[in-house]
Amino acid sequence: MPRGRRTRAPGMLRSVSLPLLARQTRWSCPNCTQTALTGEPEPHARYHQCAGLMGLYVPLVADGTDCKVYATERADYVSGDLVQVAPGDGRPYMSAVVERADGSNDTVAYAPAARLRRLFAARRGLTRQR
Ligand SMILES: [Zn+2]
Repeated sequence: MPRGRRTRAPGMLRSVSLPLLARQTRWSCPNCTQTALTGEPEPHARYHQCAGLMGLYVPLVADGTDCKVYATERADYVSGDLVQVAPGDGRPYMSAVVERADGSNDTVAYAPAARLRRLFAARRGLTRQR
């Protein structure tokens, strides 16, 4: 094919650059004064360490959302589990809940951390002989 020759079919549109509209979302927290502004087009959420919820890591909510955000304490015994402890009061929490007026909700679970070091060591034959 000779250089500079058209490669598109006749009548085919040229690519055109269009400016994308930026969508900004304002976030706030009903329990403290933290706010944020984001411009990501995909669905997303922002989290913060909330001074109003014992320092737990909880989501911000879109400005104007009629909701409440609260933390639920762990209902069972800790019993050696590596649990999320709130920096504000030192108590173990299992979740933070965003409960909206329309009935929808989101939950952040603070699952206990797993301890796998001995398990991996045992599988590789690396356990110490006692
Ligand atoms: Zn907050």
